[in-house]
Amino acid sequence: MKAITVEPKKSSSTRWEDVPEPDAREGSVLVEAVAVGVCGTDVEIAEGKYGWAPPGHARLVLGHESLGRVLDPGPSSGLQRGDLVVGIVRRPDPVPCPNCAVGEWDMCRNGQYTERGIKEIHGFMSERWRIEPEYAVKVDPSLGILGVLLEPMTVIAKALEQVVMVGRRSFWEAETVLVTGAGPIGLLAACGARLFGKEVHVLDRVETGPKPDLVGALGATYHSGSVADLPLEPDAIIECTGVGSVIADSFQKIASGGVVCLTGVGQGGRSGYAVADVSAKVVLKNNVIVGSVNANKRHWYKASQALARADRAWLSRLITRREKPEEFRKALERTPDDIKVVIQFSEA
Ligand SMILES: [Zn+2]
Repeated sequence: MKAITVEPKKSSSTRWEDVPEPDAREGSVLVEAVAVGVCGTDVEIAEGKYGWAPPGHARLVLGHESLGRVLDPGPSSGLQRGDLVVGIVRRPDPVPCPNCAVGEWDMCRNGQYTERGIKEIHGFMSERWRIEPEYAVKVDPSLGILGVLLEPMTVIAKALEQVVMVGRRSFWEAETVLVTGAGPIGLLAACGARLFGKEVHVLDRVETGPKPDLVGALGATYHSGSVADLPLEPDAIIECTGVGSVIADSFQKIASGGVVCLTGVGQGGRSGYAVADVSAKVVLKNNVIVGSVNANKRHWYKASQALARADRAWLSRLITRREKPEEFRKALERTPDDIKVVIQFSEA
């Protein structure tokens, strides 16, 4: 079969090439790839900045935002041939740490977890892949190719849960939610917060293109410009840009008692704020700043429920481009109007 592979930490090493059929030890469920979403992590791995091949291998099969169709459910999965499934990305560390021991691999404390398509396990950008039954999530069949949005939605399911859980420390419920960044994660965050019935605002740099319309179609309000200039004090901010100035402004803008949840991974960035001044505001307003990454099985379940409830026509507008696997280079390039680019292996 063919797969999109990369030699981690080596730029321009990505290839669409022949590889062996998936090893039976990778799981008893055999799946035919339908589509794989491309995200910033894939681009970083392809650029040689990140990623680890499986032990004893030089190359890694790329891809972690999967969608596939079951070819062989194996003896004990409860799945049927033809079911649409998505593969969970992270596996617990082998020690395991206390969190991995109780199934909270998203909160792994020793960093020895592995991740499909990222860290030491082959990903999903191959014509066929295998998965352990307990890591295969069945997708509502009516979603079709939109099931490829499940993995990014799990990031949001966890982030929103974190905000709600932190909020339980006092008499508090978020009414107004600000999402910074209108990429796939930001738009899915806005969609999720609207499903909870919140007043939602989304801020992004662009003033034209599909993003303002997509936000409006959710019944949310779109803003461009800076967080500092917004005419509102959000109770919760879901930060999805990883941009220093946006993050710094978010700490200033959050309402008293409010929660800032950071989901973006960026670097650098300076702000005009002095650290102790920021801290003083956080103290005096009882704010919480919480980081959130990855997702465990509970979040995968919640995300699949949320995706099944979301408007199909709206979700379909998030997939702005579909490329064939042999055109992977095009898929790894960003154009200004791209939201989610997927590599399509077969019809959903
Ligand atoms: Zn762990």
